[in-house]
Amino acid sequence: MNSFHFDLTIDLLDIIIVAYLFYVLFILIKGTRAIQMFIGLFLLIIISFIAQWLNLNALNWILSSLKTVWVIAFVILFQPELRKALTQLGQNRILGMFLKVESSGTVTEIVRACQLIVQKGLGAIIVIERDVGLKNYIETGTRLDAKVTDELLLTIFTPSGPLHDGAVIIEKDRIIAAGCILPLSQNPRIGRALGTRHRAGLGLSEETDALVIIISEETGSISLAREGKLKRKLELNALRNELVAIIGLKSAETVPVT
Ligand code: ATP
Ligand code: MG
Repeated sequence: MNSFHFDLTIDLLDIIIVAYLFYVLFILIKGTRAIQMFIGLFLLIIISFIAQWLNLNALNWILSSLKTVWVIAFVILFQPELRKALTQLGQNRILGMFLKVESSGTVTEIVRACQLIVQKGLGAIIVIERDVGLKNYIETGTRLDAKVTDELLLTIFTPSGPLHDGAVIIEKDRIIAAGCILPLSQNPRIGRALGTRHRAGLGLSEETDALVIIISEETGSISLAREGKLKRKLELNALRNELVAIIGLKSAETVPVT
């Protein structure tokens, strides 16, 4: 009797987990091109069941030899979705407590650099690369390959240095290039108050999925450009929260605003 109860609980747990996985899969692919592919895959599975059931040997043979290929095809076709799903799993708060995704350093260093740059009254553009490669823009500047640190970022944007004009591009935890030229936004709705620095940051965010932090030399305010939109006058903590939320980097500490 006891073991029956136990079996039932396990079965129930099994069903709940599978249902949840299907739910997550459905939410992920809903409204994407993946849905057609998924329907196709589903049809193939149903046909293979029917072939087995009716003992259609030849069809069965073809389908079963295709099975291994399916798995690989699935991974290739759904690669962006799978990647997104895994990243989301990594960002999951509950899981995050167990699997500490390490890279807190980079966000903290960037935010601290912004604080220093504002304090010194300097201007800056810091680009954070995401999925879209920024090779074209990296080539307009000077290549570096150095770990992101607040001091290095501050040094780059210090006006006596040759690299202070233009943008710094960050890829994961590396500063890849400095002094890069970004495409200016043609958006007519940008106010006159915003000059070329802000237009350049916004322009890149229109053309790629990069995040662009813009620090105004004139006003000392921090803006964040993303997907063609500019969030202005961000406090340091708000900036950190945005970065953590978007890039999914964990950073437990709060940045002291001094
Ligand atoms: P701020 O508020 O700091 O004055 P702004 O938006 O008013 O910024 P400008 O005053 O025109 O802009 O800032 C000029 C600086 O912006 C340049 O010195 C250069 O470093 C940077 N900049 C201008 N155009 C680009 C570009 N296309 N790509 C990268 N950086 C650029
Ligand atoms: Mg200006």
